[in-house]
Amino acid sequence: MHNRDAVFLEDLCPKLSFRRWRKSLHTFTGKSCIYCGNPSESIDHVIPRSHGGLSITENCVPACLSCNGHKSDNEVFSWYRRQRFYDPRRAMAIRAWIDGDLRLALRLLQWAQPSHIKQENSPSSKNSEKDYFMQAA
Ligand SMILES: [Zn+2]
Repeated sequence: MHNRDAVFLEDLCPKLSFRRWRKSLHTFTGKSCIYCGNPSESIDHVIPRSHGGLSITENCVPACLSCNGHKSDNEVFSWYRRQRFYDPRRAMAIRAWIDGDLRLALRLLQWAQPSHIKQENSPSSKNSEKDYFMQAA
């Protein structure tokens, strides 16, 4: 009896935290694909699991199904550079994300697509980057 309960709990808890973790990844980017900016419907392994990539934040980015399926087992940067929606700021963001610097990654994403990521900082962070993009658009 006891053993069965233990197995059950051990089985259940990682799944719950896994789901919460996946959700938090989407929240980071405002639920947008790190590659193209469309709504993120999946988590992409930057280094594919088939190549030994781990399911950790540094290797898992929010991605739309299209990008996720498209990228498949390709090396992320060589794949990304060939896409029509390639954006060097996003490439830098992906690099920062892989390096574990989520703050920098989010700043770069915000820069690439200001309207899709909510400003979470104080009013002073409604900064020139955003104004610049309004003008440039
Ligand atoms: Zn995408």
